[in-house]
Amino acid sequence: MPSVFDAIHAGLGLAAFLFFAFWLVARKGNMTLARRLEALEGRLAELKNAPGEQEYRLERHDLLWYPLLKYSPAEKKILSVTIGVPHCPGCFVQVKVAGNKDFSCPKCAKSFPGSVVDLSVMDSMEKLVRSYFRQRRPEFTA
Ligand SMILES: [Zn+2]
Repeated sequence: MPSVFDAIHAGLGLAAFLFFAFWLVARKGNMTLARRLEALEGRLAELKNAPGEQEYRLERHDLLWYPLLKYSPAEKKILSVTIGVPHCPGCFVQVKVAGNKDFSCPKCAKSFPGSVVDLSVMDSMEKLVRSYFRQRRPEFTA
């Protein structure tokens, strides 16, 4: 039986060509998506390991404090604690150093003793912030 190139064969040829063309496009798309997925996974791991921050609000010595604790989630370690500048509890603004080493609020002019920034006071607040953090995340080390 002689082979005849008819419409069915032409249709099958066209279908095979289209399938191959779509396969090439899909393969290229898959490779692009795979590269993009790889880049995003790298970025996600980077974000998971990025240092985290936790701000606290403490009322000590008639002042407001906003200590900032930085930690490494990957190492499960507290990196640093910064106590920061004291704020007036009534006005929520930073107090300024007055001439006699005391502090005063620039808004309401209330004054606070300069001894609130003694090293021992700062040290006790830092320990308090660390203990607050470790109460919620006991897996972290100093
Ligand atoms: Zn004030």
